[in-house]
Amino acid sequence: MNKVIVAGAGGFIGGHLVSSLRKRKNHLIRAVDMKPLNEWYQVFPDTENWVLDLREKENCIKSVDGCNEVYNLAADMGGMGFIETHKAACMISVLINTHLLMAARDKGVDRYFYSSSACVYNAEKQTDPENPGLKESDAYPALAEDGYGWEKLFSERMCRHFREDFGLTTRIARFHNVYGPFGTYYGGREKAPAAICRKVIEAGLSGKYEIVIWGDGLQTRSFMYIDDCIQGIFNIMYSQIKEPINLGSSEMVSINALTDIVEEIAGIKLQRRYDLDAPKGVRGRNSDNTLIKKYLNWEPSIPLKNGMRKTYDWIYSQMTEKQAE
Ligand code: NAD
Repeated sequence: MNKVIVAGAGGFIGGHLVSSLRKRKNHLIRAVDMKPLNEWYQVFPDTENWVLDLREKENCIKSVDGCNEVYNLAADMGGMGFIETHKAACMISVLINTHLLMAARDKGVDRYFYSSSACVYNAEKQTDPENPGLKESDAYPALAEDGYGWEKLFSERMCRHFREDFGLTTRIARFHNVYGPFGTYYGGREKAPAAICRKVIEAGLSGKYEIVIWGDGLQTRSFMYIDDCIQGIFNIMYSQIKEPINLGSSEMVSINALTDIVEEIAGIKLQRRYDLDAPKGVRGRNSDNTLIKKYLNWEPSIPLKNGMRKTYDWIYSQMTEKQAE
């Protein structure tokens, strides 16, 4: 029986990871997050649920004790609106990964997973909306997203050095935008898919048929549905892939096209207003999946329209429940 710690289990991806580990049945699970339990997106009564700040070394030692696998999904993060204005907070997450790695080494952990990000990629390779896809080698020479991206890049290297110097088996995925139910959709940390769902729902419910889009809407991204992300985490965790690898969809869309999809799901058409001063991130980003296909004969494949329908339905139910209260 594996005993697993999921750091950041109260968050979006961590919550889904715990849910999926439970279904696998061969794991004892310790879920850890610093948020009060009533703020976790998913809480399960049959797992250990601990509220601890993992920036503290002692808390990392306590959390890892007795576990043979570590999944580190904990970070102070959010969409562009958050990371462009909270660079120091994002970089302080370096303490979480560093202390978890030290605890994993000292407690003799078998496997360690680190959740990195497409924000590690060199900004100069993301100036064209027709981005052909970022290859893993495009992270260097380094010009990562200021704050958040540099922390991820540094932490990736820490994982590599713990593997090389101490023999800890570390696995690193570079997530490209993940979306789905049980995640942030308001409050400033939300990302484009959830934010657009919320805005379209608000417009529909209020009868004020307009939407504000950050930037000119021509910027491009790819979005990975949460089920693909969780499958990819397991595939990478138990693979032989030592270096950081992309885990993202290669279905690239503009923010305008993403809005079209949500409008179609909602069955409404909105007047678009473009806020050119809002945080908008790089101009074009997509995942090159050559390497993951080569190693795993697999890549994320859930169509954006299908995932967005499920995401929209969940956000709609949350918002209408709140309205009814
Ligand atoms: P999230 O914000 O929903 O979850 C992160 C969780 O970490 C939160 O619940 C938060 O409370 C917790 N946390 C923060 N600081 C902590 C601390 N000091 N101690 C304990 N817990 C702490 O974010 P998410 O979308 O689930 O992201 C999970 C991981 O994936 C993060 O490392 C993130 O950087 C990475 N990632 C996510 C995306 C995405 O699109 N969601 C993209 C790239 C990378």
